[in-house]
Amino acid sequence: MPTLLIATRNAHKLAEIRAILGEGFLYLTLKDFPAAPSVIEDADTFAGNATKKAVELAHWLVTRPINHQPSTIHFVLADDSGLEVDALNGAPGVHSARFAALDRSADASSANSSDADNNAKLLRLLKDVPLEKRSARFRCVIALTPVLRDLVESASPVCYADEFELQTQIFDGACEGRIQFAPSGQGGFGYDPLFVPDGFTQSFAELGEDVKNRLSHRARALARLKQDADRLFST
Ligand code: IMP
Repeated sequence: MPTLLIATRNAHKLAEIRAILGEGFLYLTLKDFPAAPSVIEDADTFAGNATKKAVELAHWLVTRPINHQPSTIHFVLADDSGLEVDALNGAPGVHSARFAALDRSADASSANSSDADNNAKLLRLLKDVPLEKRSARFRCVIALTPVLRDLVESASPVCYADEFELQTQIFDGACEGRIQFAPSGQGGFGYDPLFVPDGFTQSFAELGEDVKNRLSHRARALARLKQDADRLFST
């Protein structure tokens, strides 16, 4: 059975991934690896950040010295996601988690902002933008990197670092919608209270988990990965 290291400490994310990919895998998360390095997400695309996370962790798994069995972990799966607002030229984008904090520091390793602060900033920037120009989407990019143990044993460090990246596969998912004028709903997280998906009149925070998990950017990216599962995971 293929073993996946999911690059998250978030139990909710693991549950969502497991629900979509199914029980044909053994799942591990960063909670199983307290010593794993924290990766600074400073790329300027979602794909760049997801790839950076997956590659650095796969590399760490095969090069850390003791008490491990990297050959038993077959892939690292990492994702990066956020909100793109057309009227803001795609912002907050890769800065979604620390959108409000950007006003104080552009440092990618600085702390994230609260959801309330991020939402307040978004509404402030869009205050004069009419409904028809408030189009937006959540986007998620998943990177899947094979843990290339044999390669590390036979190649120079420079070669295998590149090879991890070359062997990484990317899966993209988006959910289109618009930003409403005020938050509504108690569910979800992040920008959910402001985001109304196309075809609905309620925000993600009102629609609830079942609806969101069917439509979401993450669900769509995972569905693409699943479509390819036979090819990806046959060893
Ligand atoms: P991450 O890539 O899952 O860490 O998400 C980065 C940031 O994007 C989060 O902190 C949220 O602000 C925003 N975000 C990503 N996915 C969602 C979502 O499904 N709902 C609301 N906000 C989201």
